[in-house]
Amino acid sequence: MKNINDLPRVSLGVFPTPFYKLESISAKYGKNIWIKRDDMCGVALGGNKVRKLEFLLADAKAQGCDTVFTTGGAQSNHAMLTAACAARLGMQCVLPLKKRGVTEHLGNLILDDIYGAQVKFIDTDRYDDIYAEMDRMSAELAKEGRKAYHIPVGGSTPLGALGYVNCVREFTAQAEEAGVKIGHIVSATGSGGTTAGLLLGAKLYQPGVKVTGMGVDDDPFEEIVPTLAAGAAELLEVPFERTPDDFQMVYHLGQGYAIPNAEDTPYIEELARMEGILLDPVYTGKAW
Ligand SMILES: *Cc1c(COP(=O)(O)O)cnc(C)c1O
Repeated sequence: MKNINDLPRVSLGVFPTPFYKLESISAKYGKNIWIKRDDMCGVALGGNKVRKLEFLLADAKAQGCDTVFTTGGAQSNHAMLTAACAARLGMQCVLPLKKRGVTEHLGNLILDDIYGAQVKFIDTDRYDDIYAEMDRMSAELAKEGRKAYHIPVGGSTPLGALGYVNCVREFTAQAEEAGVKIGHIVSATGSGGTTAGLLLGAKLYQPGVKVTGMGVDDDPFEEIVPTLAAGAAELLEVPFERTPDDFQMVYHLGQGYAIPNAEDTPYIEELARMEGILLDPVYTGKAW
């Protein structure tokens, strides 16, 4: 087995992030609900993509790349955080984004600009078209002697998933210190890398603990998540063996990806008012 600490990683976030019990919510529902505050990871507005990018951008650096391409919807958190992290490492960031939904200059598109990324809208609903465009744009850059690194949507590759293996390692130590035994790990699932990392991390550091992904998109995550987890296990040179109850998906998509669910609003407001925590309506709000 390889030690995850020995794999190339650049330091981008402020870790460990807090891990604590939601006292008021736990009391209300009669359960012990703890939260891992990766929204507080210290880059831009925070979020789960930073742990993935620590591994992915280390790989980009090791390959001598000076430009990073990634993609997502117009309001992609992953694209925005890649822009922030690439800028910090002195790399140019290019974002060919899906031109579907709202492309007004709002929200993360403003932040993409602040972080100096080059945004280009591609009029397609298929990521394969965008990856083809990335190849074309990278070939142009290569003529100028530049070298591009491609990160697929959400940073959900086996290498990216290692970020969440590392997260389990981190909160395992925090749980031990707090004297709490974890029974079940739950996260939102949008492209699968986070849940995959949690699944492998649970096997390594929290054996017997079940992982549930809350699907906020309608991809077949029952297959995607274990496949990514197995790929991450290969990088660490550890076996990945499924057990009957290790992982399940629960879908809570509503009208579709990135369309807020009206029925979620009271729960988002409850967490905000009882614990001071803001969720988003695309991922964490639906999962919650
Ligand atoms: C991307 C994202 C997720 C989903 O993570 P995946 O690894 O893509 O499944 C969850 N929450 C937030 C806030 C995100 O930006």
